[in-house]
Amino acid sequence: MEKLDCIVIGAGPAGLSAALTLGRARRKIAIFDNGKNRNRVTRESNGFLTRDGIKPQVFKEIAMKELESYPSVSISNETVIQVKKEEQKDLFLIKTSNNHFYFAERILLATGIQEEFSFSQIKQYYGKSLFSCPYCDGWEQRDKPLAIIAEAEKHMIHLTKLVYNWSKDLIVFTNGHQLSNNVRNDFARKEIKIYTTRIKNLHGDNGNIKSIELESGDNILRSGGFVVPSFYRPNQFAEQLNCQINENKRIITDGGRSTTNGVYIAGETETVGPSSLMMAAADGNKAAFSINMDITLDRF
Ligand SMILES: Cc1cc2nc3c(=O)[nH]c(=O)nc-3n(C[C@H](O)[C@H](O)[C@H](O)COP(=O)(O)OP(=O)(O)OC[C@H]3O[C@@H](n4cnc5c(N)ncnc54)[C@H](O)[C@@H]3O)c2cc1C
Repeated sequence: MEKLDCIVIGAGPAGLSAALTLGRARRKIAIFDNGKNRNRVTRESNGFLTRDGIKPQVFKEIAMKELESYPSVSISNETVIQVKKEEQKDLFLIKTSNNHFYFAERILLATGIQEEFSFSQIKQYYGKSLFSCPYCDGWEQRDKPLAIIAEAEKHMIHLTKLVYNWSKDLIVFTNGHQLSNNVRNDFARKEIKIYTTRIKNLHGDNGNIKSIELESGDNILRSGGFVVPSFYRPNQFAEQLNCQINENKRIITDGGRSTTNGVYIAGETETVGPSSLMMAAADGNKAAFSINMDITLDRF
């Protein structure tokens, strides 16, 4: 079996950008992606310089097409199901869902994160009319009647203040959670209404939200909004490779290098928190510089 210089797991902007830099540095790499990028639910991606408004799938296809110029890069749509270090050979071994095995000197984890919502109906509207990132989707929601759906007070305050920049027509829904008087007074000053009653249902069609029905029987009309998901890593690869992870679940890195020799991290998977296409791509680029430098110093 051929030994690769590096295996990149995840072809989001982080992994793709790393693959481009490594391909251009003539490194023999394989990149794996199972098409579960969390932004696949949305119609357009915004804010990436020169690609504002692009469809997520088109963004990915352009990046993959560019990689075709570099013969040392291969792309596979297999899911990586196991990653381990073969200590004696000082190599990483991965296994895919098709029962294929690959060996590499180094490994880059760029597998992103996934969302969980406090109630499942949000999924039907997420990426179409309910979003989590105002920088990504605030412009398209500007001046609309918006809902802020958030349970924890600190998340709700942060998101509401931020979104107020794009629309002043805001109603906050806490889904049964109470708010302090200070917050109520602050929001009253800005004429932001608050409903603390539990949400019974969301109504709309084709992903476009029209109203929020409460257990009290009220049905409040809204045409878009922002929510606060919780995020998790879709695998335990960093733990299995003994990478140091801090109390906030962040994988400790320096220039993309994890604390385990030969293991690198890029993109949202590092912090288990949301960022942006641009930031993830920059992370991938940075990690690829480190990978290439480490290979160079090892072999020169
Ligand atoms: C609804 C929505 C709208 C957004 N809009 C914008 C926007 O307008 N502008 C913006 O800048 N950002 C936007 N984002 C955020 C943006 O999508 C992320 O910041 C970015 O994609 C993170 O890049 P990443 O490379 O870290 O992870 P991802 O893009 O999530 O890529 C990780 C990849 O790893 C793959 N993978 C995971 N596990 C495995 C495995 N075991 N085997 C093989 N492959 C695996 C996944 O399939 C995925 O393709 C949006 C996000 C969402 C959810």
